Amino acid sequence: MTRIMLDPEKLKPDCDSCDGLCCVSPVLDLPHYQKPAAQPCKNLDVVNLRCRIFETLEDEGYPFCRAFDCHGAGPAVTALFREVGRSWRNDADAGKVEFDVFNIVYATLHRRLADDPPLITDVTEEHHEALRPFIDAVLIWLSDHGADEVGDHFGVRTDGTDAER
Ligand code: SF4
Repeated sequence: MTRIMLDPEKLKPDCDSCDGLCCVSPVLDLPHYQKPAAQPCKNLDVVNLRCRIFETLEDEGYPFCRAFDCHGAGPAVTALFREVGRSWRNDADAGKVEFDVFNIVYATLHRRLADDPPLITDVTEEHHEALRPFIDAVLIWLSDHGADEVGDHFGVRTDGTDAER
């Protein structure tokens, strides 16, 4: 049985290394703006992946954006999909998988690390088994020590016997 040990101190966002997953994957359901899952926010520059209104988020009704912490899920999922050269930016089918993996990894980290509200997504429980190899790959990427190290800090296991995803 192998467990993946994750160090909360290392689980930090890195927007410069992310394909803007938190600005594309989740639903936005605001009084002044609604967007479905898996669609870029209207404020996202999809070329440089920067928020066009980042300096004025609060004034424009998006205070949660600055407060949001992906705990490293965004750059880790981005790294995995960049390795295979496919992502939401060039392949809609790969993008669907990428978003579901991001949502599940974020939910996994969020349950253990934070009190911030979960993202609103359209990911379903049925996807979990099919996506498990991707999810485990991302969690291993996030781990300081990789899958060979044994630990139970988060109780995340790669054999699925006690996975809390
Ligand atoms: S307002 Fe900016 S930070 Fe918030 S989701 Fe849209 S692009 Fe991302």
